[in-house]
Order: sequence, then C-alpha cells, then structure tokens
Amino acid sequence: MKTKEKPRGSVPMDTDGFDRHRSGPERMYVDLDDVISRTTDTYGAVIEREFGRQVRFEDLVSFDLKISFGLTDKEFHYFFDLVHQPDVLMGYEPVPGAVAMLDGWADAGHEIDIVTGRPYFAREASLAWLERHRVPFTDFTMVDKYNRAGNNSSSVITKEQLGQRHYDLAVEDSRETAMFLADTMGVFVMLYDRPWNRHPVNHRNIQRIYSWQEISAARNTRNMQLTTSNHLAVCHQVCKP
Ligand SMILES: [Mg+2]
Repeated sequence: MKTKEKPRGSVPMDTDGFDRHRSGPERMYVDLDDVISRTTDTYGAVIEREFGRQVRFEDLVSFDLKISFGLTDKEFHYFFDLVHQPDVLMGYEPVPGAVAMLDGWADAGHEIDIVTGRPYFAREASLAWLERHRVPFTDFTMVDKYNRAGNNSSSVITKEQLGQRHYDLAVEDSRETAMFLADTMGVFVMLYDRPWNRHPVNHRNIQRIYSWQEISAARNTRNMQLTTSNHLAVCHQVCKP
C-alpha cells in the first residue's frame, strides 16, 4: 500500500545527489514513532495534564515510559490507551526532514517499509496519519517489538518473523530493536538519537544520527565504504599474483 504513488525512475539516483555508489534500489526499514512521527515529545504535556507531574523530554532516559514517567501499572495502562486513541495519534507532527527524505527515496525507486511497534488497535489511525502527511511507503508492518500483552493480533508479526526479512538499511530509535536489526539480521542501522538510547552503542552496523538531513551523508559514507570494500575484494581475486 502506498499513500502517495510515485513514478519509479529507471535510474536509481536519489534526489539528494549523495547516493552515487549503490547498484540498485534498496529496501528500507523505517520506524514510525520518534523517527517519522514526533510522538514522545508530546507525552510530557499529557503526563502533566493527567497526573500533574512535570517531566522534561531530556529526562526520558529509559525506553520504558513507565520508568521514565514514574507511573504505576494502572497509571501506565491508562496513559498507554490514551496516547493510542485515534484523535491523539492524528495530532502528532512529522519529524523535520522525514517526509522530504522518504520522498527522495521513493523517487529513487527504493522500497520503504514502515515498521512500527504500535499496538494492533492503532493500525487504522496510523495509516490515516501517514496519508494525511503524505508519507510515501511501500509496506506498513506492525511488529510485536516489545512483547506487549494482547498484541497477538493476526495483523501483528513477531520479531522472529521480522528476522526472516531482508533490509538494506534501517532507521530506528529503540536501542534494543537496533541491536536486533544489526546483530541478528545484519542490517545497517541509523540509530536516531533520543534521550532513551544514549547508552554507548558499539556495533559496526549501527551509526548514531541526529537528524534526517544527516542520513544522506551517513548513507553516502556507508555506500562508499561498501564500494571500496567490494573493489578491494574483486582486486584481491583479480590482482593477486
Ligand atoms: Mg520508535
């Protein structure tokens, strides 16, 4: 499903002009919350309104919002349901630069799989939000990334099923999911810097980025490294005495 049909160009060249080193269209994994959608930076206002607590975005150092906001189980369940209501989901703004970059990828013929850990009941509102903001994508995948209770709908795949897929590049903000992608699946991951993922990450397949604009340069560097590596491998085969 695509929210915005894009003509598929015969020449796989990104509009940003950086991508001159890969050999063809790529398959992209792109997370939704806090990568395309400005989600968690709206939560502070909700917590203050509902629970009278002030928590700064920069203080959200745990991916577990129950811990970051100091919520009881009951409070968290109320909060979780609230922020996944359609009117709340539809109110989020896109992360600056995300839609423009995804437009460029779609124009270049890349496949964009939006992969979210949102609960199954947020599906229709999520698709409506993507359409409202004209976010181009090839597939929309719901994954039980966080082993949430009640998320065993047929419309949600498991991490093991995700692990059978192939992606050339991923953009994620969850450190745990980034490690799964990088380590188990062998995917090169752009880890979108957020307060909850700032523990040191030392993995050759993970690169921290701070904006969508930065992703172009990071991809270019990565593709140049791969090209150089491929050339060296070929040279080793052809040039050895
Ligand atoms: Mg996310």
